Amino acid sequence: MSGSVSERTIVVTGAGGFIGGHLVNRLLHEGERRVRAVDRKPLEKWFQVHDGVDNRVADLTLREACTEVCEGAAQVYQLAADMGGMGFIETHKAECMLSVLINTHMLLAARDAGAERFFFSSSACVYKAERQSRPEVTALCESDAYPADPEDGYGWEKLFSERMCRHFREDYGLETRVARYHNVYGPLGTWHGGREKAPAAICRKAIEAQLSGELEIEIWGNGEQTRSFMYIDDCLEGTRRIADSAVLEPLNLGSSELVSINQLVSLVEEIAGVRLERFYAPDAPMGVAGRNSDNTQIRECFDWAPSVSLRDGLEKTYKWVHDEYMKRWGGRLGPREATPRRPGTTT
Ligand code: NAD
Repeated sequence: MSGSVSERTIVVTGAGGFIGGHLVNRLLHEGERRVRAVDRKPLEKWFQVHDGVDNRVADLTLREACTEVCEGAAQVYQLAADMGGMGFIETHKAECMLSVLINTHMLLAARDAGAERFFFSSSACVYKAERQSRPEVTALCESDAYPADPEDGYGWEKLFSERMCRHFREDYGLETRVARYHNVYGPLGTWHGGREKAPAAICRKAIEAQLSGELEIEIWGNGEQTRSFMYIDDCLEGTRRIADSAVLEPLNLGSSELVSINQLVSLVEEIAGVRLERFYAPDAPMGVAGRNSDNTQIRECFDWAPSVSLRDGLEKTYKWVHDEYMKRWGGRLGPREATPRRPGTTT
């Protein structure tokens, strides 16, 4: 995967966002010379802007924009979506579903451009709620997505778009590959503003608590809801493997290290060297009661599965959020945001 120089054109959409920015970086390190990075946000809001990349600002809900960005593309990584943590997706269902415009137009444009590969970032939110009703979950395996009863809004859009990928492959010969990401975290992603997910939000709250001297934290739900969290390096490794593979059906890409939100807070406390009094908000959005990734299939396919421990990944994430916070607020406590003292939950 690395070392040699490649002259094919690779398009990464959502490249101003968290995973897309890291993916562009990874492709450059692998020797890709023609990377086209696309996002709707103005360049100054991208988490990473790389030199030597064809960086473009475009709204990919529009068919013409998709046609332009796919011109001459050999591979397309379709990561652009309107998304966020549970606090966002539970309150912006229509907005989440409108990402179907991006997926539809990108598939059509990639097909018409004769792209060799189309990678789509789906989500664990495609899985049935009834399989996730208890914190002590049985990990979700790929076949659990059907009969369909996904997360309302965001999950339905992902499942529908997965299905489109399948039919574009079967009917038009576009080689689509799909990963179902389970909670990805790490540096250079959203850590404030309402779309952040639990790991970054809890890191920020621990920093705010220390700066304010109010050593407390609010947790959505009862804190016993469980999740697994995948560090960004594992996400990139899995994404590249799936994109280049012969695996036609959607594959789970997630960590299988299950923790409760209370345990996640404890880990952040350890890293930050602080103890926080916990307040619970039982009526706040908290998503399903429990979710974990069954990694049997990905192991069978690649003899590999995500392996970065939550402790190791969180240390890097905490340090990055801490540095960002200090840069942004000059070492002082910044104003609390519209949803103050809420650590966010996770999809
Ligand atoms: P992100 O929000 O950081 O990045 C998504 C990017 O897409 C944003 O920068 C946004 O500006 C861009 N975008 C949105 N609408 C656009 C449009 N119309 N045209 C062009 N760009 C547009 O999110 P992320 O965490 O990097 O997620 C990337 C992908 O992975 C998304 O498809 C997401 O649904 C999927 N996913 C992520 C996670 C996770 O835990 N991060 C979990 C499951 C699935």
